[in-house]
Amino acid sequence: MNITGEELLKKIIAHAKEYGFVFQSSEIYDGMSAVYDYGQNGVELKNNIRNYWWKSMVQFNDNIVGIDSAIFMHPTIWKASGHVDAFNDPLIDNKDSKKRYRADVLIEDYIQKIENKIAKEVEKAQARFGEAFNEKQFRETNPRVLENQVKIDEINKRFNNSFEKNDLDDIKLLIEELKIVCPISGTCNWTEVRQFNLMFSTQMGSVSNESNTIYLRPETAQGIFVNYLNVQKTGRMKIPFGIAQTGKAFRNEIVARQFIFRMREFEQMEMQYFVKPGDEMEWYKYWKETRMKWHLSMGIDAHKYRWHDHEKLAHYANAAADIEYQFPFGFKELEGIHSRTDFDLNAHIKHSGKKLQYFDPETNESYVPYVVETSIGLDRMFLALLCNSYKEETLEDGSTRVVLNIPPPLAPYKVAVLPLMKKDGLPEKAQEILCELKSDFMCMYEEKDAIGRRYRRNDAIGTPYCITVDHQTLSDNTVTIRYRDTMLQERINISELRAKLFEITRFNPIR
Ligand code: ATP
Repeated sequence: MNITGEELLKKIIAHAKEYGFVFQSSEIYDGMSAVYDYGQNGVELKNNIRNYWWKSMVQFNDNIVGIDSAIFMHPTIWKASGHVDAFNDPLIDNKDSKKRYRADVLIEDYIQKIENKIAKEVEKAQARFGEAFNEKQFRETNPRVLENQVKIDEINKRFNNSFEKNDLDDIKLLIEELKIVCPISGTCNWTEVRQFNLMFSTQMGSVSNESNTIYLRPETAQGIFVNYLNVQKTGRMKIPFGIAQTGKAFRNEIVARQFIFRMREFEQMEMQYFVKPGDEMEWYKYWKETRMKWHLSMGIDAHKYRWHDHEKLAHYANAAADIEYQFPFGFKELEGIHSRTDFDLNAHIKHSGKKLQYFDPETNESYVPYVVETSIGLDRMFLALLCNSYKEETLEDGSTRVVLNIPPPLAPYKVAVLPLMKKDGLPEKAQEILCELKSDFMCMYEEKDAIGRRYRRNDAIGTPYCITVDHQTLSDNTVTIRYRDTMLQERINISELRAKLFEITRFNPIR
């Protein structure tokens, strides 16, 4: 497809709505920005991704167990974790349009425009030189590319420097110097930059005063930290061990865009791995490798992934890296792997006054474990899978089809059972097969419309196999099985169906 990333994203959003994957929240009331609902097919895909993650963590690892902690937690937890004081985004308002922006995103967008200019130069040169084109060399020698790259580096350096020192005045100055204008008013009439806390707060109980202000959790990790000793003791866990959790998290994101990439209510899948101090780098490396294997096990193209190792570390980390995926709007963070040291446990020891040391029965010593965390957004993984699997194909006869080639273990429906016609006992036979299969597989049953249209509808929601019941079925108990990706068909005996479907829709072992 020769279309821009923006056009592709638009198509994916439209497809997700048309086929019951994702709807705008509260749509009939004009919608809520950055909040989305999952439809009948979306919820199946989302459940399957979550299950695959859970199995890979909890079922495949003897020393990892799961929990499900509450969204509401004691407010001091967020003081201890640093979220009350430091979970901020720098905000700026345009005085003419009254629109609010993230100062860092305005600068990021400005840099993106320069990057687009570079990409255009590269594209032009590629067209001119054809096969002989050496992109690396071109980027390193072309004066216009080099000039633009220097600009990008200077802006990044200045921004990072000011951001680190919390020099908000200089960030404003940078925006003014770059002559960044508000896309609505077109003016450069900006307010001061100020910090905005991303946590949603609410009141617990009937009386509203500051002391009963509580927060909707901005991450699931803290629910694991505060339960770590409960789990360790009751599960008799020995270090190293992990605790996994999936669940909703809430952030009052200022910039609401890029569909389900950045939401105000989203779901995380996190695992905290408790290790002996000093061993954390070994485990950090191990989890980096293991998590990348997990991503690749879903059959997503390897070149769509890349690592981003953090140079600037969060206050709690001694190493951190992101797995980035190439979304239609560029490479962006999909998962973070962080070596969080003993920061969180020590903070909870200090704020709660409780002992959270681990007692090692083999060495008879007590210590506060270090933690390596893997943290992935379920909605971002959903979007990555949707983007990776959306294909518009032109077929041999010149017709087109849209197909989602979602990996079969994750597809919303594993199989569609389709009687060729709505007569001659074919629906009854198809129903028999459906009853046989549906206790083990999500099955779609459809008897309306021509068979070709039913195949297309199933292609569009990613059903990997269609089973068609025809007149021959009645005489020899065979059906055709049609494969979504190749569109090839073969005849198979009904008695072999279950085993075959088990084989082709199984989760791949990741190690
Ligand atoms: P970003 O820099 O994109 O805001 P982050 O570094 O703040 O992300 P983390 O705090 O590390 O993200 O959260 C772990 C994971 O949770 C991210 O890798 C991402 O997949 C997911 N996530 C974070 N914020 C959102 C959001 N607003 N909407 C959807 N998923 C999110």
